Amino acid sequence: MIIINLLMIFYRINYASAIIYICKERIKLDSIMRKNERASLKERILTLIAEGEKEIAMLKEHTKPVSPENSLGRISRMDAINNKSVAEASMRIKTVKLTKLRIALTHIDNEDFGVCKMCNNTIQAARLMYMPESTRCVRCASR
Ligand SMILES: [Zn+2]
Repeated sequence: MIIINLLMIFYRINYASAIIYICKERIKLDSIMRKNERASLKERILTLIAEGEKEIAMLKEHTKPVSPENSLGRISRMDAINNKSVAEASMRIKTVKLTKLRIALTHIDNEDFGVCKMCNNTIQAARLMYMPESTRCVRCASR
């Protein structure tokens, strides 16, 4: 009992500093969590970049010029040209995404990474995991 009383007295005396201590610990914990989040996000970006590079390399195969003197018939030649333009469009989109991912990778250690460029709110973690190249939150992006 004496020990409990002593602890309570001690606690009351140091009430303000106890609160400050708890807050500091919480901030420390927060930044550790953010560090972990950042690390897994970095890994995710690297995976997406590797995948994107592979896909672009594959698409490149399908965007080679269709030679007029090949043995394809007229219809298959038109098909080939059509497929080529589909592949080219897809490659353009993937190249843009790859560039954005590379930019995100260079910014990931910045303090303001994951902060919406328009409203300054934090971009949702799930959104960043799904699209790490996002620079806007869901609300601003859909506006
Ligand atoms: Zn926003």
